[in-house]
Amino acid sequence: MPDIPIPLAIHRGERDITVTWAEDHRSVFSTRDLRIACHCAQCRDEFTGRLLLEPGAVPVDITAKKVELVGTYAVRFDWSDGHHTGIYTYEYLKEICPCEVCRAGGAGKAGAS
Ligand SMILES: [Zn+2]
Ligand SMILES: [Zn+2]
Repeated sequence: MPDIPIPLAIHRGERDITVTWAEDHRSVFSTRDLRIACHCAQCRDEFTGRLLLEPGAVPVDITAKKVELVGTYAVRFDWSDGHHTGIYTYEYLKEICPCEVCRAGGAGKAGAS
């Protein structure tokens, strides 16, 4: 079993959401990018992975009204555009981590969309 990453903290900023994995590892996501990265059945075709969500329809000033833990493996965001069905597993968040280390380290499928 691979280790399941668990964040130490999740912080909601004005325009970004910071997930702290460890003292020296933080993922700073643009709130909007994270909203667009939602891979629930409403936003992404389950079979083809095609984006169903129109990125242009996501407000630039979108915020996460609420962050809710789902079990011990994921979080769910309550977005200000009314969307709240997307579940982001910690594994997925780590996979799409935009930090330099993860991007340079070839974090697998990150960015493939
Ligand atoms: Zn979604
Ligand atoms: Zn990272």
